[in-house]
Amino acid sequence: MKQVHILAAPVKTFWLNFHLAYACQHSGACCTSGWPIPVEPDRVIPIRSLAARRDEEWLVPAVAAPADVAGTLALQANGHCVFHGDTGCGVYASRPASCSHFPYVCLIDRRGVHVTLSHFCPTAASLLFAPEAPIAIVEGPSPVAGFDVPEGLDARESLPPLRSPDRLMTWEAFSNWERAEVGKQPTAPSLADAAVLFEHARVAVPAPWAWAPAPADLERTWQMLVAPAWPRFAPVAQRYRAAKVVASWAAYTDEGLAAVLRVADAADAVLRVETIRQCMSAGRVLDADLLKQAIRHSDLLLVHYADPSVLSSGTKS
Ligand code: SF4
Repeated sequence: MKQVHILAAPVKTFWLNFHLAYACQHSGACCTSGWPIPVEPDRVIPIRSLAARRDEEWLVPAVAAPADVAGTLALQANGHCVFHGDTGCGVYASRPASCSHFPYVCLIDRRGVHVTLSHFCPTAASLLFAPEAPIAIVEGPSPVAGFDVPEGLDARESLPPLRSPDRLMTWEAFSNWERAEVGKQPTAPSLADAAVLFEHARVAVPAPWAWAPAPADLERTWQMLVAPAWPRFAPVAQRYRAAKVVASWAAYTDEGLAAVLRVADAADAVLRVETIRQCMSAGRVLDADLLKQAIRHSDLLLVHYADPSVLSSGTKS
């Protein structure tokens, strides 16, 4: 009897069009951030061979960590990864999975893989300043070579998100909603409302980490240093918000689309507050460099420090 092989359908990967050109420029932002980088057990031997160093010189053993974490990479006195040097990464070919996945933030559901980026990476942040083109969700390659399905939130067993407390969407309706939502401008909250949303994100940072409170006198600084230039950067703020709508892990919380919009609104608010902070500290009117720094800081808070479940929950009034 003839054997029939049923091939699984290839996994589709969806990107925002302005993110599609992303390629690591080896800025070293992720290698010098000082955050703990987990090492998978199957990377220990390859890294050990490549580094030719004793494990205790580069691997901090895991305490009460999940079984898929052997430890974290040791840091130099300046907070840089122990393997980061003038010529880049000393163990690039065998680097831990989280190094190869940065700055990708992926959501996997029954439609495929959805990719957004952490704009803490300066290369990713620069893409938000790309020449004007209508924002669109497009198909593209897998973000991480060798992985059809990269690391991320795996929601393939989940039902589609909730549109309202008692109504599920269809997959097609969810995709249509995303396509419409990414084209929208942020709704420009009052600075008082932005301050409340910023504070909600700030307190979502778990101890022992912490994030600086919003600067005092937001309104005055906004009017003096940000408002004159903000309209020029409206397309950048719009792309930043779009990047919070696609691949949003909040879609698969109990509140579905409401939680996605809440996180997107919080991101817009955090960006406004961090822009004020950058302009205050530089003592000059907003320009592209200051906005890029504000975007990097916003994603450091939102993507890397804040607890996503707290972030997607409502603010306490
Ligand atoms: S292992 Fe390499 S890529 Fe990963 S943080 Fe260290 S220097 Fe950077």
